[in-house]
Amino acid sequence: MTALSRITSALGRRSAHPEWCAQGHRCGLGEHRAEPFTIAVPGLGSATLTRVEVDGREHAEVRLTVALADDDLTARVQLAGIVGDLKTVISRAANVHRIA
Ligand SMILES: [Zn+2]
Repeated sequence: MTALSRITSALGRRSAHPEWCAQGHRCGLGEHRAEPFTIAVPGLGSATLTRVEVDGREHAEVRLTVALADDDLTARVQLAGIVGDLKTVISRAANVHRIA
């Protein structure tokens, strides 16, 4: 393989989109992004999950929106609960063994 073919091969790999990439405006600036998937719980909140690849490493990006109580103390308790729950979610998701 010549130096030129190695460079063009590397550039070709870098610009190729994974099968799941939404391409277009969702993909760029060195990352690939899938179409986001939103789960809504009416009156309570929603979570939007997006598969993302940056520098060859894939990860899940999660945006969580939750209704908070009107009073500050209750809202703080809710936020503390969310932090604990998110730690559990991250640990559980990271410990899943590959299927195959
Ligand atoms: Zn892409």
